[in-house]
Amino acid sequence: MTVTTLDKAFAAAGAAAWGGLPFSELAEDMTAEAIGKAEELCPHPQTVLVAAFPYYAGEGVGNLSLYARGRDYHLVVPEKMNTICNLLREKYENSRFLPAADNSPLPERQAAWRCGMGLRGKNGLVIVPPYGSYVFLGTILTDAVLELPRRSSSPDCVGCGRCLAACPGGALGTGGVDLDRCLSELTQRKGMLSAEQEALVKAHPLVWGCDTCQRVCPYNAHPALTPLAEFREGLVEGLTGADLAGLTNRQFREKYAGRAFTWRGPAPLRRNLEWKEA
Ligand code: SF4
Ligand code: SF4
Repeated sequence: MTVTTLDKAFAAAGAAAWGGLPFSELAEDMTAEAIGKAEELCPHPQTVLVAAFPYYAGEGVGNLSLYARGRDYHLVVPEKMNTICNLLREKYENSRFLPAADNSPLPERQAAWRCGMGLRGKNGLVIVPPYGSYVFLGTILTDAVLELPRRSSSPDCVGCGRCLAACPGGALGTGGVDLDRCLSELTQRKGMLSAEQEALVKAHPLVWGCDTCQRVCPYNAHPALTPLAEFREGLVEGLTGADLAGLTNRQFREKYAGRAFTWRGPAPLRRNLEWKEA
């Protein structure tokens, strides 16, 4: 299959950018455990495709992170990547094509950077102008050897350091993101938080996720709106304690089916809301 055909297919699926690289190259960024998991899913993996899907839908007021307001990208992005897989399956009948988003052993950001998609942000994110870092990444793992577009590694962002300075938990450093200090992680974490982590969550305006290191980034000053209806329409921008009152886990998941903020159940959201509304 030609690169031009794939170009058209990714554009039709709504991708703002895509790329591909040999699995052996991406494996340089993977642990032995992750390589083993990838090989379990796809024996003799040869190629990884990666694509970016924009999600910025504007500035509605709400206490949910921008990424969590539309349909759940864990569902939407693999569906979109699967349209590419279906095309490839017709051509390469004996090969496997496995779509994923955020739930595979593949390091998606490293794949995107190695393909030269956008820029490498100091905040650890992939920046794809004009959508900024407001993009979801999806991957396809395959045992087929595919023709791939030319590529060179992503350049670094301008390195202004605003993301590091603005991070409330001091989670960003040269070693990447410290998840024990990152509010994106802590607002979603079940169970006990340390007193310091609790104080961070209490002082944070969102009850799910954290957009701070994205909001301050100059590449996100005027992001283009997503063309994808799944991330632009039917948004849930915020939650209150009353929205969740009396719901069982099952009722909560039914009420907010297909939303990314449901995957840890209602407990972390209730806890965070109680702290805000106390
Ligand atoms: S998401 Fe928030 S807490 Fe996490 S690194 Fe970015 S600014 Fe810091
Ligand atoms: S805020 Fe500055 S340093 Fe951080 S990712 Fe954006 S451009 Fe890079």
